[in-house]
Amino acid sequence: MKYIGAHVSASGGVENAPLNAHAIGAKAFALFTKNQRQWVAAPLTAKSIAAFKDNCQRLGYLPSQILPHDSYLINLGHPEAEALEKSRAAFLDEMQRCEQLGLDRLNFHPGSHLGKVLEEECLRTIAESINITLAKTKGVTAVIENTAGQGTNLGHTFEQLKYIIDFVDDKSRVGVCIDTCHAFTSGYDVKSAEGFASTFAKFDSVVGFGYLKGMHINDSKKEHGSRVDRHDSVGAGFIGESMFSMLMNDPRFDNIPLILETPDESIWAQEISMLYGMIGK
Ligand SMILES: [Zn+2]
Ligand SMILES: [Zn+2]
Repeated sequence: MKYIGAHVSASGGVENAPLNAHAIGAKAFALFTKNQRQWVAAPLTAKSIAAFKDNCQRLGYLPSQILPHDSYLINLGHPEAEALEKSRAAFLDEMQRCEQLGLDRLNFHPGSHLGKVLEEECLRTIAESINITLAKTKGVTAVIENTAGQGTNLGHTFEQLKYIIDFVDDKSRVGVCIDTCHAFTSGYDVKSAEGFASTFAKFDSVVGFGYLKGMHINDSKKEHGSRVDRHDSVGAGFIGESMFSMLMNDPRFDNIPLILETPDESIWAQEISMLYGMIGK
């Protein structure tokens, strides 16, 4: 089963996210459980938590169809102690919010070395941040997203994702999310049939499909290898429609949230139905 959806708004309360997803015909969704541009947020209320669970149940969204995304401010690999502590505290809060909502995974960008430490050191700091957070929580998997490799952001190669996983103590609660736009601009050819096959063969041998807990299915406004993160609508960018068709017809991407983070939310419903229409074609 393909669970296709989008990163929907949770404005007015997290309980609105499943309603917004349902309205566009989504079988999966992503959300921010707090304002993604602020460090602190009021705790979720009991009422909001109950309404979220109730709406998800009523509309048929299981935890395996939901991929919450953490705040953009968090850098779990921050080279400076004080800033690292702030990020770790905020990440713990994000994980606890997922726990409260009964969700089983949290998607995040690994972190940035800011030009102050070597890559390996930063990757080990990220793994340590994950270990600290997993030890204080239950039932939520830390899902590392690959990046475009913009600036000093790490996680733009499968080897870096694997390096982090290697240092995580509880392998049952760490996973990855592959963003197709980020993969393409970081240098992986997901556009051609041969490139798609070899990219995901490489992914399987370096990381392993067992760790794949979600996908961000985006086209790209920037060229292959540009290391710039600018999503485009399905078929409108440098990747093009054929990659989406390959994804839709590949059972390795079954039963995980496939999330559109495409820029024009007014066409999400159309994009979702177009993607479902590609299955079997
Ligand atoms: Zn992301
Ligand atoms: Zn993404």
